[in-house]
Amino acid sequence: MASKDYYSILGVSRNASQDDLKKAYRKLAMKYHPDRNPGDKAAETQFKAINEAYEILGDPQKRSLYDSGGFTEGFDPGFAGRTGSPFGDLFADVFSEFFGGGKGGAHPQQGEHILRQVELSFEEAALGREISIKVARWESCAACTGTGAKNGKAVKVCATCRGTGYIRIQQGFFAVQRACTTCGGEGRVVTEVCPACSGRGRVSVERTITRSIPAGVQSGLRVRIGGEGHAGINGGPPGDLYLDISVKPHPVFTREGDDLVVEKKISFLQAIFGDEIEVPTLGSPFTLKIEPGTQPGTTRRFRGKGLANPQSRQTGDLVVKIRVEIPTKLTREQREILEKYAQVSGDPSLHGTQSQDGGLFSKMKSIFE
Ligand SMILES: [Zn+2]
Ligand SMILES: [Zn+2]
Repeated sequence: MASKDYYSILGVSRNASQDDLKKAYRKLAMKYHPDRNPGDKAAETQFKAINEAYEILGDPQKRSLYDSGGFTEGFDPGFAGRTGSPFGDLFADVFSEFFGGGKGGAHPQQGEHILRQVELSFEEAALGREISIKVARWESCAACTGTGAKNGKAVKVCATCRGTGYIRIQQGFFAVQRACTTCGGEGRVVTEVCPACSGRGRVSVERTITRSIPAGVQSGLRVRIGGEGHAGINGGPPGDLYLDISVKPHPVFTREGDDLVVEKKISFLQAIFGDEIEVPTLGSPFTLKIEPGTQPGTTRRFRGKGLANPQSRQTGDLVVKIRVEIPTKLTREQREILEKYAQVSGDPSLHGTQSQDGGLFSKMKSIFE
């Protein structure tokens, strides 16, 4: 569901063939190519988005992974709910060709979506934060109110089609409708182009968008900010801004599901005798009591002290994994004490101490000396 917008960016439906995708990509890539739009930051943004979308959808393997949701899992249910442009320009074009009909006047089109990568630190992702993102986008030209005509008034009804956007042609037995070539099916002709936007109806603007990212977001999550994409055309709604979240790894913490996992090393003496250790959390550290006789691999779990999940609205646990460290170097005195311990405890596995066959202690000697 959440993956719909790569299709929207290319203006094709989800079941478009690879050939359709290629055509749509070519058409858009030509339109937004930087060479054709020098200095137009919004076109550059869109050009990147188109390339990213095609990189995934143009490869059948990546596409099927993307379709199955393997690439992203947006948590915003509004993501696919919007009737944006899954049937975009291409659909209209195909149908107008098929039926021979024109567009019948200027029809509103939703603006293009913008896709941005946002990298957060582990803490920022866990606790949530406000972020500001600079986006270059098209906004409706104020000078011509988006019409592309000088002062918004230099427009006249197309004389060829009388404003309908299509013309009728008699072909043998059939009367066929075709898009009017004089006005391109718009039904109107601009007599003098708006100098502010060169007739495009939109101008390239840089904006800073500030939003709060909810606590607990994870890598691969896509956040939708509705209406902050490119402005629509002919009064259509604006596109959306999508943020692809990636979270940097943390030197101390890891995320496992919704659990916040921290590994704590203790000495073998702490494991035997018990102790109190300090455990870091994303807030202030707390003191954890180590019971005497704690085994290596012991896990302590603290309910609800883990990470938020903005999708399920639940909170995971804090998990402390205890690792018992075995010393790798012993002084002569330490070794003598441990050998004594072995003799006293009469552990059969330690009886190789004085034997020739490389028992445990002779092996230890070869390590320690
Ligand atoms: Zn203008
Ligand atoms: Zn016309």
